[in-house]
Amino acid sequence: MVAERIKEVTGSLPEGVRLCAVSKYHPAEMIQEAYDAGQRIFGESHVQELQQKHAILPDDIEWHFIGHLQTNKVKYIAPYISLIHAVDSPRLLNEINKQALRNGRQIRCLLQLHVAEEETKFGFTPEECMEYLRSGEFRNLQGVVISGIMCMATNTDDEQRIRRDFSTANEFFQQCCREFPELGESMQFRSWGMSDDYRIAIEEGSNIVRIGSRIFGQRTY
Ligand SMILES: *Cc1c(COP(=O)(O)O)cnc(C)c1O
Repeated sequence: MVAERIKEVTGSLPEGVRLCAVSKYHPAEMIQEAYDAGQRIFGESHVQELQQKHAILPDDIEWHFIGHLQTNKVKYIAPYISLIHAVDSPRLLNEINKQALRNGRQIRCLLQLHVAEEETKFGFTPEECMEYLRSGEFRNLQGVVISGIMCMATNTDDEQRIRRDFSTANEFFQQCCREFPELGESMQFRSWGMSDDYRIAIEEGSNIVRIGSRIFGQRTY
């Protein structure tokens, strides 16, 4: 079942678009099934759950942290996390830097852009994000590699609105690449699109989609 859905989804992605299979709240056995079908990138959004899965699943899984990450929990995942999608404050970035250096590694981070209509979502506004980058502070963070932009669209059925949110993020990404050419090679991820909106996301420039329920079914919280 999981294997079929993994193949269906990966088969529907254009070349150059990666799949982050969002396995939060699903058991390790289902991740193993997806792994056996060839999937290697998995996304989790709770540190404790990720810790447990990381301990028992194959070593060559690329674990991505996709949820809101609390500063005091960075230390637990710093030894192995491959990409952190939703970095939403300079403070969090500083902590990731500290823990990365402690582990003798560099951690790839995406800056989360707040483009959705809802007030409650985390993330930098485009203005805040640009201001942070222009401050040049990120250049002092030897343990962090700014690797792209992540966003979530407004939670709505209005396709135009969703498209507009993604396209705002895409324009922001392009602007970053122009203004900060030194980020050039590392700025490679445009992380937007989930089960219900990933096709629109790809049309609006996404190159890594975070898909959960379409692969693993409904989550029971
Ligand atoms: C849960 C989650 C997803 C996956 O959502 P689905 O609708 O199940 O595909 C993607 N991104 C983030 C940040 C999530 O928390």
